[in-house]
Amino acid sequence: MKKFEYMEKHGYEQLVFFHDKTTGLKGITCIHNTTLGPALGGTRLWEYENEDDATLDVLRLARGMTYKAAAAGLNLGGGKTVLIGDATKVKNEAYFRALGRYVQTLNGRYITAEDVNTSTKDMDFVNMETDHVVGLEGKSGNPSPITALGAFHGIRASLKDVYDDDSIEGRTFAVQGAGQTGYYLIGYLLEAKAKKVYFTEINDKHIEKVKKEYPEVEFVKPDDIFSLEVDVFAPCALGAAINDKTIPMIKAPIIAGTANNVLEDEEKHGTMLKENKILYAPDFVINAGGLINVYHELQGYNRDKAIREVERIYDRLLDIYEIARENDTHTQQAAKLFAKKRIETITQMRSNYVKR
Ligand code: NAD
Repeated sequence: MKKFEYMEKHGYEQLVFFHDKTTGLKGITCIHNTTLGPALGGTRLWEYENEDDATLDVLRLARGMTYKAAAAGLNLGGGKTVLIGDATKVKNEAYFRALGRYVQTLNGRYITAEDVNTSTKDMDFVNMETDHVVGLEGKSGNPSPITALGAFHGIRASLKDVYDDDSIEGRTFAVQGAGQTGYYLIGYLLEAKAKKVYFTEINDKHIEKVKKEYPEVEFVKPDDIFSLEVDVFAPCALGAAINDKTIPMIKAPIIAGTANNVLEDEEKHGTMLKENKILYAPDFVINAGGLINVYHELQGYNRDKAIREVERIYDRLLDIYEIARENDTHTQQAAKLFAKKRIETITQMRSNYVKR
């Protein structure tokens, strides 16, 4: 892999490889951009096929974090760490403390957190060796309910844009995935008096939980969720739910949920949705609630303040929909323009000398 060529093309700042001989820790931290503040992004543990796959993943994920933080109005840059290993074998106290020591060497340019195959408990070990870790037990807590809350406000903004009325009451919803975030989203929609909520799941335990707690919510088979005549399709499962096969099935005028990487191909499927007059709430904007919440740990955590910031996803999405119209582009592209613009403006604003 031509690493410098890739870094130059996308404006990366730093790519750090590390290895600890005592614990066998092998990892890569990528800092994409720190214009707005320290790079924040979780640590993912994965058994990558080879080093190039791991490198590409960390580069891609770190860049995504730059856009996500910038669009969320946070003073954070984008970064990420990947650890190469088998999650069932490598995890222990020393392993994560070794990671903490490497994070500390970056001197606050990078802040880590949990991600796929790492937990808040693992981050407690990381925290024994570094100050630069968030998402700890007893602080901002489980990010899922607040991510779902952000999506709820994003759905309201999308309804406003399409119907000029943001009330949930009287509207219908199809939720794909009732795991950590989908389950909470269903609860918020019912609380706001949604007329009808359908859901789908592939995990029997999650299906039973929703059926038991919310008998009014109707279960449909996974393949049937796309073609329902509803106001909002809410993807809350895995990535790539929106693709060549599913777009022609979708009857909802709005796609807005918690999932990451919803569009299988951002450019192609973003454009297809625009042509089909389906409003798509860009994933990294509508699902930023968890990041906004954890960011508040850096400033002395205050839940009310974090929730107020999460509610601002509503206005941010309305701005992005306007940018999409002004530029005659799809909303995912408009969200990137919005994020880039903030980074550029803050850079220019800081060009004069100020003594502090
Ligand atoms: P989760 O694993 O708890 O829930 C996902 C659920 O989707 C699971 O219950 C799974 O069984 C179900 N599922 C998977 N494939 C399905 C299919 N084809 N049809 C129906 N159900 C299916 O995960 P989560 O934490 O709720 O996250 C969901 C999405 O939101 C992911 O893309 C994640 O990256 C994103 N996200 C989550 C958070 C958070 O705070 N948890 C924050 C930002 C983004």
